[in-house]
Amino acid sequence: MINIILFGAPGAGKGTQANKLIEKYQLVHLSTGDLLRSEIAKKTDLGIAAKKVIDRGELVPDEVVIGMIDRKLEEHKNSNGFIFDGFPRTTPQAVALDRLLADRKKPILAMIALLVEEEELIKRLLNRGKDSGRTDDQELSIIENRIKVYTNETAPLAEYYTSKNKYVGIKGVGSIDDIFGRISDTIDKLK
Ligand code: AMP
Repeated sequence: MINIILFGAPGAGKGTQANKLIEKYQLVHLSTGDLLRSEIAKKTDLGIAAKKVIDRGELVPDEVVIGMIDRKLEEHKNSNGFIFDGFPRTTPQAVALDRLLADRKKPILAMIALLVEEEELIKRLLNRGKDSGRTDDQELSIIENRIKVYTNETAPLAEYYTSKNKYVGIKGVGSIDDIFGRISDTIDKLK
């Protein structure tokens, strides 16, 4: 069972690396951002409410994303493991994830953090905004707010997982394959 939290600021490359990891290790990709965007595309009540928050670069309420993760863990209960991408993002989410995984006897193997400088993050996000269709990637003020929210609310989770001896920081710049190599080496040593 391999449960990995892929951690890092917006634009750190979590989604790109998650897609490669699920293939290599046969895992299920759980991205709360993707799940929310799918609700937006379907124009559900949840999606309509979430879009307003996402387009300000703020976080949707903890209970919304925790409920989504709970349902997905149940849906894929026989999987080899999960890559958590963009979740947890707050301390209450991390505490809830611990409980959800403890109930299922499936602990976190590691939090792998992709470390990228702010200037590079902004460059990558503005670039992605040109063709991803993501409205939250198209305006500098929204991007800056997302990075601020990350620094204030999400970055402290590195300490939470360090205190549990689960945190590994990895250089998140270089080619996609080099970064993937670093992540895979880390997982292979731990599993
Ligand atoms: P992402 O695709 O991970 O960059 O997420 C895009 C946006 O969705 C974020 O800026 C938040 O508004 C929202 N979001 C995604 N995951 C979470 C989460 N775990 N908690 C709260 N909001 C989230």
